[in-house]
Amino acid sequence: MKTISDLGDLRGKRVLVRSDLNVPLDGATITDDGRIRASLPTLRRLTEAGARVLVTAHLGRPKGEPDPAFSLAPVAARLSELLGGPVAFATDTVGPEAQRVAAELSDGQIAVLENVRFNAGETSKDDAERGAFADQLAALADMFVSDGFGVVHRKQASVYDVATRLPAAVGDLVQAEVEVLRRLTESPERPYVVVLGGSKVSDKLGVIDNLIEKADSLLIGGGMVFTFLAAQGHGVGSSLLEADQIDVARGYIERAAAAGVDLLLPTDVVVAPAFAADAPATVVAADAIPDDQMGLDIGPDSAAVFAEYVRGAKTVFWNGPMGVFEFEAFAGGTRAVAEALTRTDGLSVVGGGDSAAAVRQLGFADDQFGHISTGGGASLEYLEGKTLPGLAVLEEQSR
Ligand code: ADP
Ligand code: MG
Repeated sequence: MKTISDLGDLRGKRVLVRSDLNVPLDGATITDDGRIRASLPTLRRLTEAGARVLVTAHLGRPKGEPDPAFSLAPVAARLSELLGGPVAFATDTVGPEAQRVAAELSDGQIAVLENVRFNAGETSKDDAERGAFADQLAALADMFVSDGFGVVHRKQASVYDVATRLPAAVGDLVQAEVEVLRRLTESPERPYVVVLGGSKVSDKLGVIDNLIEKADSLLIGGGMVFTFLAAQGHGVGSSLLEADQIDVARGYIERAAAAGVDLLLPTDVVVAPAFAADAPATVVAADAIPDDQMGLDIGPDSAAVFAEYVRGAKTVFWNGPMGVFEFEAFAGGTRAVAEALTRTDGLSVVGGGDSAAAVRQLGFADDQFGHISTGGGASLEYLEGKTLPGLAVLEEQSR
């Protein structure tokens, strides 16, 4: 893949950058600006080189037409604060405002275009419709830099099609993300421990499938535990259970055993009668969950064992909270695993939007981890061994 250095002299050039600025908002207040911060190095590098930078990005899921609730205006304002300089904002994406803002940029200046998903062409499944929109985006700039890691698994106009219409390069963030993921899939340093949690087994099947024989240990926590416990014949009370995945879970237990991989399930579980912050929590053995209780976290014994595996690892990939960390009574397992990741002396990687939010909410700093991925879905698809369209197109362009 071509990198920014391969684009040559950037002074005076208009560079369209696809960033991932899809931050959580509470009204117009940004509650976690991690993705904006992660986009800064590429943007700084381009402006310092004298480029005229146009940033395109999406926010939320508007329905292909303008919707003020999903405006990128607050994001542009935050970007300006973080960069410590002015950031222009175009109130449309490819229309007269975007064209005016693009024409008025001077060297080293930066502008954000309004939410790219206000345009139906962005996410259209129809190649011609998507292509027509990509033509409009491409007309704004001389070059394209793909730096939105959270969207590289999407075949969308601002990710995929525009890269076929302009000289294109990978941005520093995407390059760094891919480098880390490559280390997780090609000859990882051992022991290699994979910790999976979160709400649903069905979200993580592909990753389990692809990593089960690559990892030395696979630790399972979170809501998916109960489908595995059910596969072993245990009752799970009113815990999350995906009945249609029980056979699949059983298959993984058997495959792990055959491959000599440790597949660890919690031996104790924190349970409560209801899904609520103030529900009375008790600890029970994993094979003795009462019928009227639900499992909301891995228990303290299991948390200690998981932490020991993680601390002893040379490579750790963690995706998915161990419990309902949003409620303090059920955050213990997630905290123990996060804390252990900060203590490994190997490569520690956190993937997944909620996992990243969890480590920040629990008070850990980003730099305590080897890498916190900005793209949950994209990193999972990479680890599943899938081809990511936004990366494949850049590889093709540089042939
Ligand atoms: P990520 O975004 O990191 O990939 P997921 O989206 O898969 O993670 O899952 C995150 C959610 O899983 C959290 O909101 C958490 O509350 C929930 N969760 C974890 N353990 C349980 C459990 N035992 N029961 C219900 N929900 C759970
Ligand atoms: Mg999530």
